Amino acid sequence: MATRIYILGSGTPTPTAERFGSAFVIDADGELIMIDCGPAATWKLAKVGLRPTQIQTLFFTHHHFDHDADYPCFLLTRWDQSIGIEPELQVIGPPPTVELTDKLIGSDGAFRHDYLARMRWPASQHVFVNRGGTLPRPAPRVHATNIGSDYRLAGAGWSIRAAAARHAQPHLECLAYRLETTSGSIVFTGDTEPCESVQDLARGADVLLCMAWDTDEAMEHTGETAGTCGVGGAARMAGTAGARRLVLVHVGPRLASPAGREAALSGAAAAFGGEIVLASDLMVLDL
Ligand SMILES: [Zn+2]
Repeated sequence: MATRIYILGSGTPTPTAERFGSAFVIDADGELIMIDCGPAATWKLAKVGLRPTQIQTLFFTHHHFDHDADYPCFLLTRWDQSIGIEPELQVIGPPPTVELTDKLIGSDGAFRHDYLARMRWPASQHVFVNRGGTLPRPAPRVHATNIGSDYRLAGAGWSIRAAAARHAQPHLECLAYRLETTSGSIVFTGDTEPCESVQDLARGADVLLCMAWDTDEAMEHTGETAGTCGVGGAARMAGTAGARRLVLVHVGPRLASPAGREAALSGAAAAFGGEIVLASDLMVLDL
């Protein structure tokens, strides 16, 4: 029994050499669950040795583009690589998860021309058959669900529950998730200010992946505190919640330099005595 966390995206809307956007995959005893699908997530899957067709469930924390911009690419690639026997993809998140999915691949979706062409063009049908598929080639099928902060789901050998994050409301609904596997508990804060609901969700977690936009001092100076969590806030939430390991994610561009990295780690260590990891893209952690 094992749980592995693939950090595909540990950054923000600002691309840096180390980080861009948010995306994670958890391998829970062989079942792959994705949390967010930020920029280049599909390509980063390949970089860590995973295939889109292995993902059965995708959860969104919220619909800022740094968390969902690769969703169309992921959907189309998963469908294109499929031979029609893979389980239907479950996509779960706050609104507009259903509406976004429909706008991409629905009957009037932005990418309908592409998949219809691949279903009907003999050359594409030939590639599909060579890959192991049987004609007629099915259209993409996705089961999308809009959820709220009371959401819970029990999978085979894992379970998940949501909590309200405090971020871009009332413009966007924003969630945090706690995933329980046979190896332990992992909490994804999504984007949030330090707040009680996320802290409660993280109670006693083995791993807390928490937004860490910048140092608290820099955020006070720039006034970038609303809806965001800094290094100190992440550390204080981890400490109060009694988390075992704190992984700093959603790391802002000002922490990309060696001095920024040092400031992030020392700032977090001042408020949290457990293990601290400053995440970068393609990092793999075992639970
Ligand atoms: Zn956001």
